[in-house]
Amino acid sequence: MGAAGLAPYAADETQSRGRKYDEPRPAYRGEYQRDRDRIIHSTAFRRLVYKTQVFVNHEGDLYRTRLTHSLEVSQIARSVAFALKLNEPLTEAISLAHDLGHTPFGHAGQDTLNACMRDYGGFEHNLQSLRVVDVLEAKYADFPGLNLMFETREGILKHCSARNARELGDVGERFLQRKQPGLEAQLANIADAIAYNNHDVDDGFRAGLLSLDQLREQPLFESQYAEVHARYPELEDRRLIYEIIRRMIGTVVTDLIEETRRRLEKECPESIDDVRNAGKPLVSMSDHVYEQHVSLKRFLNEHLYRHEQKLEMTRKVQIMVKELFTAYSEDVQRMPPEFADAAASLDEHGRARVVADYIAGMTDRYAIAAHEGIRG
Ligand code: MG
Repeated sequence: MGAAGLAPYAADETQSRGRKYDEPRPAYRGEYQRDRDRIIHSTAFRRLVYKTQVFVNHEGDLYRTRLTHSLEVSQIARSVAFALKLNEPLTEAISLAHDLGHTPFGHAGQDTLNACMRDYGGFEHNLQSLRVVDVLEAKYADFPGLNLMFETREGILKHCSARNARELGDVGERFLQRKQPGLEAQLANIADAIAYNNHDVDDGFRAGLLSLDQLREQPLFESQYAEVHARYPELEDRRLIYEIIRRMIGTVVTDLIEETRRRLEKECPESIDDVRNAGKPLVSMSDHVYEQHVSLKRFLNEHLYRHEQKLEMTRKVQIMVKELFTAYSEDVQRMPPEFADAAASLDEHGRARVVADYIAGMTDRYAIAAHEGIRG
């Protein structure tokens, strides 16, 4: 057993690769707890409440936003971390930070901004999450960003091109060396997919874009449906869906814990570096459940994310983001002074990045108002 009841393969702050700028250790909390707390106090975190997950914020009050999505990811990841004796505060920090770099309007916003940035290195929300915590948050007197621990930053950066990896230095290395991140990072990544698969079924059903009959074609859903319906034949649809979703989460999470435990017993990693060198991820569902999980993911992609009603919103969003990008690129003074000043001294590439940072930081409603502003 490692420090403070942690498994030997868990991230342990005493073995950490540390922070970029040295700081005294906190007196009454751990280093990863401090990271989590800094993330919660960040501006980017507060903005998640007004950013789209699947449904644009003003489409309804009951849908997930990026904030509630991040909290659900954190809840799922933490319960698995607890069961496997992994580092829970680190798992929580990564989960809460994983979407900090997301643009307004979800993936439609991200894809459009990426297209606008094609000649300037592109835009990728995951990379942007790291940029938010490393550079863009301007709160502390002694350093830029939040100065998080290496393992938190390693966990935030889920994927990365070789070119970006070379530019990023320490957290980029593993992509060049084809190594794995720590278990807490692997876990937060999978918890993200478990969270959205399940909450999007709920939101999609509530929005009337997915029907019970359609969902029943999914094995993960159907097996729970059969049990719940047999036991509670009179249950109304809303409660039926909730009951099925909670059981789906339970099934997948239990499988994830048990399969990961099997893999850990087989590989016997004795440190986080053993985990990094394992050659494959150790946090995993079993093949059988993973197939069902992926099938549901594909189903949502086809029937919800690309639903005609959503595509209409996507088209509107594409125009908005594109016009914002063009307007600010042509005249940087249209941005608030801190962005305009930063952009003024830069070349075309640098200016485009500042514009992308500004747009990516916007909430849905702020972007809509800004778009009205540049037209008016
Ligand atoms: Mg996410």
